[in-house]
Amino acid sequence: MSFPFPDGRLFVGGEWQAGSGAEITSTFAAEGTENMRFAGASKADVLSAIDRAKTAQADPAWQRLKPHERAMYLYRIADGITANIERISWLQSRDTSKTRNEARALAGSAAATFRYFGAVLETSDELLTAPRGDYLTYSVHDPIGLVGAITPWNSPIASDAQKAAPALAAGNAVLLKPASWSPIISLELARIVEEAGLPKGLYSVLPGSGREVGNLLVEHPDIGKVSFTGGTSTGRHLAHVAAEKLMPISLELGGKSPTIVFEDCDEDLAIAGILFGIFSSSGQSCIAGSRLFVQRSIYDRFVSRLVKATEALKVGHPFDAETQVSSMVHADHRASVEAYVQTARDEGGEFLTGGRRPEGAEYDNGAYYQPTIIAGLTNQAQTCREEIFGPVLVVMPFDDEDDVISMSNDNDYGLACGIWSRDHAKCWRLARAIRAGTVWINTYKQFSISTPFGGDGASGMGREKGRAGLRAYQRQKSIYEDHSGQPHPWARWP
Ligand code: NAD
Repeated sequence: MSFPFPDGRLFVGGEWQAGSGAEITSTFAAEGTENMRFAGASKADVLSAIDRAKTAQADPAWQRLKPHERAMYLYRIADGITANIERISWLQSRDTSKTRNEARALAGSAAATFRYFGAVLETSDELLTAPRGDYLTYSVHDPIGLVGAITPWNSPIASDAQKAAPALAAGNAVLLKPASWSPIISLELARIVEEAGLPKGLYSVLPGSGREVGNLLVEHPDIGKVSFTGGTSTGRHLAHVAAEKLMPISLELGGKSPTIVFEDCDEDLAIAGILFGIFSSSGQSCIAGSRLFVQRSIYDRFVSRLVKATEALKVGHPFDAETQVSSMVHADHRASVEAYVQTARDEGGEFLTGGRRPEGAEYDNGAYYQPTIIAGLTNQAQTCREEIFGPVLVVMPFDDEDDVISMSNDNDYGLACGIWSRDHAKCWRLARAIRAGTVWINTYKQFSISTPFGGDGASGMGREKGRAGLRAYQRQKSIYEDHSGQPHPWARWP
């Protein structure tokens, strides 16, 4: 297969054109090679995309589409993704070093997201509310206008779809800025959107730097909503910019999610779920179960089984069907994980496994890192408080329910949590007590597009997915229509 845009064109306001901004390099970190290098979007490119988006979004032909007509575009985009799944997954593996299996699953989920929001749009009701007088009251939903979507590199096609599908379904125009490390897959999605016949201008893909392109998308007065997925410090900065404009912004940010193992769990299920929760995607997942709490009564036995199972994981090339843990997205990102590992050493962490790069000629050129388990730290250690975003798990013992609830909640993040126990009443109590947008009981990292997703605290605000996901991209308007035919009694005159 080959790269779709050999001359490095961007999709600006529905036209393919050369970027005029700073150079972007997409790398295949698993082999330490370059995929392509091209000029990203400049400020002028963004302004031009915004202008064209305004015109396209205001076009009565788009505005007047009935929900089932607008939904057809989403179904066609979903079909386009499905028809190109092999190509998309190849590109995504090249862009991010994800395994082919994971890349295929993400592409499938992106198609399902477009289909789902087409269906939600077609089946959404408006609200007829109870009047307190002789009038009819109802509440309708209008598009916001222009939506800025900013996505990270770790699951690009799924993140792009999670924003673009509901935003387009809601009747907006979308200006998407992918992360600089993963521009290719977003441009490929633009090609599919174009083939689906979406009117020109309604969708733009603007790879470029966060500071220039990303910031402009948030600051620009014509952008009416921003949907951001990325790191907490970036999200916090963008929230300030949005507050100044009084603009709605949704923030899907980082995590340091607790996984809790009780003595009465099914240990085989728990070990499989924990491995998948932290080491799949090489730990580069916002919902990675990166803090493990194991009940003290089974701690030694359980942790030693977990270490053995971790050492059996296959670390390897993303195109090898046997690989479970692939290369990290970029050598620079591995360097940041290695800096955290050094912090754990400095804090006195005990390395039960990993803590180094894998050895062997096949790993020499790639950004691989050995799955790592660290014990001997307290919940207060920097290693246990901050998101590492790599294949690094910290494990700590706990005594009872109260103990583990308090340790789980003693962290700024609130994205996800896993609980392993056969006692359903206990799982229920914990699920309600722990601060997290998603709780998994006897499973981990399972998703349904119908189920809302998002975080609390430093993990962000707002929810994506689910039927309400469409409403997040609309303005609600309430209308009162008088049926009494009587002048208002307050306005008496002789
Ligand atoms: P990042 O915050 O560095 O970048 C995310 C996006 O924001 C990129 O497109 C980047 O170019 C852009 N950006 C950076 N600075 C900007 C600025 N000043 N103005 C506007 N845009 C700017 O994050 P990353 O390293 O790409 O992604 C990893 C992070 O994303 C992790 O913290 C991870 O937990 C988080 N994440 C969260 C979720 C979720 O749903 N909660 C999902 C995936 C990833």
